[in-house]
Amino acid sequence: MNVQLNPKDLSNLRLIVNDGNPTPVVVAEGDGIGPEIMNACLRILEAAGAKLEIRRIAIGEQEYHKGITSGITNDAMNIVRSTGLLYKAPITTPQGGGYKSLNVTLRKTFSMFANVRPSYSLSPIVPSVHQNMDVVIIRENEEDLYAGIEHRQTDEVYQCLKLVSRSGCERIIRYAFEYARAHGRKKVSCFSKDNIMKLTDGIFHKVFDEVKSDYPEINSDHWIIDIGTARLAARPGDFDVIVTGNLYGDILSDIASEISGSVGIGASYNKGYDCAMFEAVHGSAPDIAGKNLANPSGLLLAGVMMMDHIGQHDVAAKVHNAWLKTLDDGIHTPDLKVSHLNERVVGTAEFADAVIKRLGEEPRGFKTIEPKRTQTHLPLVAYPDKKSDSKTLHGVDIFVHHAGHVTNLADRLNRACSGEVTLKMISNRGVKVWPNGEASTLCSDHWRCRFMGSNDRSIDPRCIPQLMATLLAEEVDVIKTENLYNFDGIPGYSLAQGQ
Ligand code: NAD
Repeated sequence: MNVQLNPKDLSNLRLIVNDGNPTPVVVAEGDGIGPEIMNACLRILEAAGAKLEIRRIAIGEQEYHKGITSGITNDAMNIVRSTGLLYKAPITTPQGGGYKSLNVTLRKTFSMFANVRPSYSLSPIVPSVHQNMDVVIIRENEEDLYAGIEHRQTDEVYQCLKLVSRSGCERIIRYAFEYARAHGRKKVSCFSKDNIMKLTDGIFHKVFDEVKSDYPEINSDHWIIDIGTARLAARPGDFDVIVTGNLYGDILSDIASEISGSVGIGASYNKGYDCAMFEAVHGSAPDIAGKNLANPSGLLLAGVMMMDHIGQHDVAAKVHNAWLKTLDDGIHTPDLKVSHLNERVVGTAEFADAVIKRLGEEPRGFKTIEPKRTQTHLPLVAYPDKKSDSKTLHGVDIFVHHAGHVTNLADRLNRACSGEVTLKMISNRGVKVWPNGEASTLCSDHWRCRFMGSNDRSIDPRCIPQLMATLLAEEVDVIKTENLYNFDGIPGYSLAQGQ
């Protein structure tokens, strides 16, 4: 197998360097609590001396209501493209079909494949069951179930495709190790569910095992996502950097920011070759929108990371220290609990005022943040898809919509078989129900019918349309087909439960 790496020419990378001039940044204030918290954050950044040339764009609810199903106009997309830097408040994703998630669109359009979400304990000022939590979750941002490819296939059954590429795994896993190396982190943990999803999560785990050997100074381990998440919630001190898939990372990072104090303080950034986007972990919180109750901290800390990204390290440290000092003095928004004799609960705007007042001060209850000396640019590397030496077709899964009993279906399918293929099994919701199924297995109207080359031979692809034509003549309602390939002699398809 060809496993050569192909590093992307780094001269093509858009690196924003601090040359003393204002840095162009696109600001999107979003909706829900977005405008309030963005206003608070921009006031703080400006007061701290941030040199930003702000270009505002409208996104989210207001655009959806105009009939723009992506939530962003082409003009606004071009503005993001021209600067490569976006500071974004949360937006509401409309429920129901017809609308696409703007967050997913932005991440995928600009290929921001890495979503970095740090969570750390602010104990003892912000009470947390975990005093020693300091975890960075690195979430794959473009693949997995978030490809958003869904179909209704029968009266009863709906499908969402989970797409995972080897190159996508390699890119994010290598990014996680590079992140750990650049930030002096000691361990990278991989979270997956490869005991069940042996191919999609399996490739994620496999690539992790391959890549980790290039970073011998960094410890590594693998966790099945369910027990790993339980352990993270109970003993976050066991973890340092976690790399995981798109959906798992989304869930995990909300849990991590909530147990560190509040989902309102979670910050994140999304990074790719040409564009970086800084945002809070939380959503648009419509339940508290417009009430001056929202905590701007998540978006503010995302702003701090953005300042470091563009090389304005003094501003980043100044804002971070003033924010810590504000909590240190017992001032906080209602979502946080603070252990302080002089506790004062304030609104969003007043919290921003309190941070501005403390710019230039240092916290006492927390370690002072020193300005970074250099900008960290991780070597982002592009990986070609790795070709197999051989790919052979051995059968086909034909999915059918059928409301009756399985034996009746099997009879019709068997009648359609030519000499080249044989009906091997039928499964329903992943469980084999023919031959020799269990009478107690609950069946829906969605059946996977597996035809394999007779006598274990590979098959000619042209026999599939012939088989389909015969099935249609038998009035079998075919929904879709999946070809069954062997790659380098290894089956590229899963078995049914009980097969
Ligand atoms: P949410 O994060 O908006 O709110 C969950 C809970 O946390 C609510 O009780 C809310 O009041 C509270 N909360 C959230 N942020 C807070 C803050 N800064 N200060 C104080 N309390 C805060 O999650 P949700 O209700 O599931 O989602 C609402 C909308 O946001 C949905 O349309 C969702 O699609 C969208 N969303 C957007 C983003 C984004 O733009 N990046 C991320 C997640 C969800």
